[in-house]
Amino acid sequence: MATDKHYTLAGVMGWPVAHSRSPAIHNHWIRQHGLNGSYVLLPVQPDRLGDAVRGLRALGFAGCNITIPHKVAAMALMDRIDPLAARIGAINTIVVEADGTLAGYNNDAYGFIQSLLDAQPDWRADAGPVTVLGAGGAARAILVALAERGAKEIRLCNRSLDKAQALAAEFGGPIRAYPWEQREEALEGAALLVNSTSLGMKGQEPLTLSLARLPRHALVCDVIYVPLETPLLAAARERGNPTVNGLGMLLNQARPAFARWFGVTPEVTPELRRLIEATL
Ligand code: NAP
Repeated sequence: MATDKHYTLAGVMGWPVAHSRSPAIHNHWIRQHGLNGSYVLLPVQPDRLGDAVRGLRALGFAGCNITIPHKVAAMALMDRIDPLAARIGAINTIVVEADGTLAGYNNDAYGFIQSLLDAQPDWRADAGPVTVLGAGGAARAILVALAERGAKEIRLCNRSLDKAQALAAEFGGPIRAYPWEQREEALEGAALLVNSTSLGMKGQEPLTLSLARLPRHALVCDVIYVPLETPLLAAARERGNPTVNGLGMLLNQARPAFARWFGVTPEVTPELRRLIEATL
């Protein structure tokens, strides 16, 4: 935790990591709260992850974010893993505790839920069936988040059906796996649609999906934030569905980490949104 006597260091460890918006987010909050510290890029190749993580304490870091490709491998280097992160099966935040031990957290689930609540303060996970596209790393956090918030039916569609089935078996509860070919049937009566595939991201193939069967009141969320409005969100907006882009998840997941390192809980303000949107 920062005090005005100490310089607090944090960062984001990944490979590659130069594209990360996290320094812009955290350094904005450091300036906004008049704190003495900095958030830096930590480019670390996979074979140096152990040395780099163990070096955080010696270098005086309060902790760091962990991003692709280290989110799973870094778990083995922790002294303690938060139960939610253990359930998700990945960490995105390391905290160097006062006694020098390392604790691992995953704030993506929090970021995802908070982004929905920012858009619709009365949003509820049990409002109706939820359709989730994708069964990768982002989906793991989203599925755990939705189940924890009380979702009663989650229809999980993925190109590789075996991955969706494996996640449904691992997490259990309300999750049912659907073949990718049935993704349009899976929209019937849904209250929430989430795209957690990389389809629609800048430089990737588009997502092919007719929204004809989706109720017009359903909330449509795309966790992609480049571009801010994916073709899926544009199509949803045009037919009158409320939409949420991926920027809210990115900004909100940063809040609990900042609070742990710097001792101040920061806010996602319109000013911060504009600042990060300008970098996209
Ligand atoms: P990932 O683990 O690589 O998973 C990618 C997912 O996309 C898998 O389900 C994969 O299906 C699917 N996919 C890829 N190409 C496909 C295709 N041609 N047709 C059908 N499905 C395809 O990636 P991730 O880490 O989950 O990230 C996914 C997206 O979420 C990225 O765009 C990332 O930027 C975004 N994201 C946003 C946030 C945020 O804070 N807003 C956080 C994390 C991630 P298979 O299983 O069949 O390969």
